[in-house]
Amino acid sequence: MKKLSIGDVSITRIIERDGPWRTPREMFPAYDPIIGKHHIAELDSEVFDPASGRMVITYQTYIVRTPRYTVLIDTCTGEDKGHPPPMDFPKQPWLDGFAAAGLRFEDIDYVFCTHLHIDHCGWNTVLRNGRWVPTFPKAKYIFHKSEYAAWEESTKRGENRAGGGGNVFHYNCQPVVEAGQALLVDDGYQLDNTFWLQPTAGHSPNHCCVNIRSGGQQAVVIGDLMHHALQCREPDWSTIFDWDPAQAARARRKFLTEIAGTGRYVLPIHFPQPTTGLIEPDGVRFRYKFVR
Ligand SMILES: [Zn+2]
Repeated sequence: MKKLSIGDVSITRIIERDGPWRTPREMFPAYDPIIGKHHIAELDSEVFDPASGRMVITYQTYIVRTPRYTVLIDTCTGEDKGHPPPMDFPKQPWLDGFAAAGLRFEDIDYVFCTHLHIDHCGWNTVLRNGRWVPTFPKAKYIFHKSEYAAWEESTKRGENRAGGGGNVFHYNCQPVVEAGQALLVDDGYQLDNTFWLQPTAGHSPNHCCVNIRSGGQQAVVIGDLMHHALQCREPDWSTIFDWDPAQAARARRKFLTEIAGTGRYVLPIHFPQPTTGLIEPDGVRFRYKFVR
């Protein structure tokens, strides 16, 4: 897997699943097929499968290594969770990827979750003797305090919100807090001058991007601020999975406006290989340029 280096930090990825997934019409309620077709014709071939008409969507975890720490950002769907299809991916690719990166569970120092959805906090925990326990015994898990509280409340109310709450909260989030391994942090949280959070609420109650800085360079793991490169062309196309679609669209446009042309690397969770990209301005739209 291609490694990105910025300053003293190296960044690689573990892929849990990839390939054609949903059609744009299923994913974006505001999708317009004529406009969409025009954009898709201009996008990189990796991001769309013309045979099936589906977007190519990857699920992956970032491994970030600094001179001091080994950090995971977002942990896919995990194993033994009993999620119904299509969220019942096989566990082995992620475990193989983790091992291929030369890692053992006890090597992880920190886990950041951009948000607490089913496909971003799965490997937070594993089932041991009938109990959900933190997968990484020495890690601190960094959750935004209000993100955690919102899903706790939603779960208590018995809501059925897209992406999170219910078993996702009970299996992947609550056991980490109960084990004393969670750091419930605020908007301004910063770890070791290298990592800091950037609140980008909308997709989830308190979704955060994770900024990484070293040696005068910057990268940002954007979680689900975008699911697909189409959203650079149409930032207002929010997804069916958004907590607040209008707020998600505002957060996306603000982010794209601020980062366009800066040379800061963008690290999405759901974009296929080569994944890493740069944002270029294009009038009221933006372009996603893969770093190849
Ligand atoms: Zn996601």
